[in-house]
Amino acid sequence: MSLQAQIAQELFDVYDNQKIQEITSRRFTQEDMLRWFQPLEKARVFQKTDVGKSAEGKTISMYTLGNGPTKVLLWSQMHGDEATATMALLDIFNFFTQQTSHPIVKSVREKLTLLVIPMLNPDGAERFQRRTAQLIDMNRDALQLETPEARVLKEVQQKYKPEFGFNLHDQDPRYTVGQSKNVTAIALLAPATDGTRADNPVRTRAKKVAAVITAVLSRFISGHVAKYDDTFEPRAFGDNVQRWGTSTVLIESGGWPQDRDKMFLRKMNFVAILSSLAAIADASFLDEDISAYERLPLNTKNLYDVVVRNGRLRANESVAPLKVDVGFNVDEEIDPSSGKIRLSAKIVDVGDLSTYGAFEEIDAAGRDLDAGRIRLETSIPYEDIRGLVKQK
Ligand SMILES: [Zn+2]
Repeated sequence: MSLQAQIAQELFDVYDNQKIQEITSRRFTQEDMLRWFQPLEKARVFQKTDVGKSAEGKTISMYTLGNGPTKVLLWSQMHGDEATATMALLDIFNFFTQQTSHPIVKSVREKLTLLVIPMLNPDGAERFQRRTAQLIDMNRDALQLETPEARVLKEVQQKYKPEFGFNLHDQDPRYTVGQSKNVTAIALLAPATDGTRADNPVRTRAKKVAAVITAVLSRFISGHVAKYDDTFEPRAFGDNVQRWGTSTVLIESGGWPQDRDKMFLRKMNFVAILSSLAAIADASFLDEDISAYERLPLNTKNLYDVVVRNGRLRANESVAPLKVDVGFNVDEEIDPSSGKIRLSAKIVDVGDLSTYGAFEEIDAAGRDLDAGRIRLETSIPYEDIRGLVKQK
């Protein structure tokens, strides 16, 4: 087994004891995050610096760890409802605080200085929404810098000029890998720096880091890693930070069956981020073949949350029945009366969905479907899906 594989396996094996046990949901506020950080701060393994304020006046903090010559900037949750990597970063801080003599910890601390902004958009996190309190997608504000949150990120990048960057997000959980029906667990991108998408030394170095992550993740979730579309987006941060000289990798956490809270993907982030930091620290990433990353199939959309297969649907009295599949996308909604999360299932397609995968499949072969309740683009409670299949 290669050293890289050994490190990844070791991190995978220790994770369940090293994660912060109190974090059990991806819906949390900045206040919750600060409460989880508090006991760790006492150990003085890392320093906290205030780097700015959100539109609503919340302090945005950066956590600095290690005192090596190579600087690595990691930022998460610029989209307020994308919390998977934030949880993994907290787990990483916990690991560094608990295991000060672990060889991975020692190597990273000695060779690297980590600059970590775990929640760039605390106002969005408060509401569990993508955009900032000023209604802006701050990942389209890297040029105009109208929002205070975007200015924080650019100022930190310009001040420290880190050699490496990790741009941490969640994507729609319904992406699949290439033409397969495999859900994309993690999508990776070494963003382009202009419309030609040509490589330069900064981007090539990012591709080598992405190749490390590809190899590491393939040990655990082979067939579930995709490449994110590399079309240049002039207003996005990943593309610009790369252009400003920081070798940047985008990590998008996608979906995983029976894991709405993304706890398994949180673990995959922990393993992927720490393994790649170890590979930067010992310079082994330089030996990586970028084709491992470049050959990844592209993110595609061949998946619905639930598919009812091979039912018999007579859409109305004047037409004949047909054999159909019915596809649903299930979303979380807050019940206004109870404040609790409920699951709402929107009917998004009817017809031959045999080329689509699903997190949940319901076999309705030879059964009638309740045509009165099957209307495209309308929603029903998730619990009612099975009731659409009539009993014989
Ligand atoms: Zn995002």
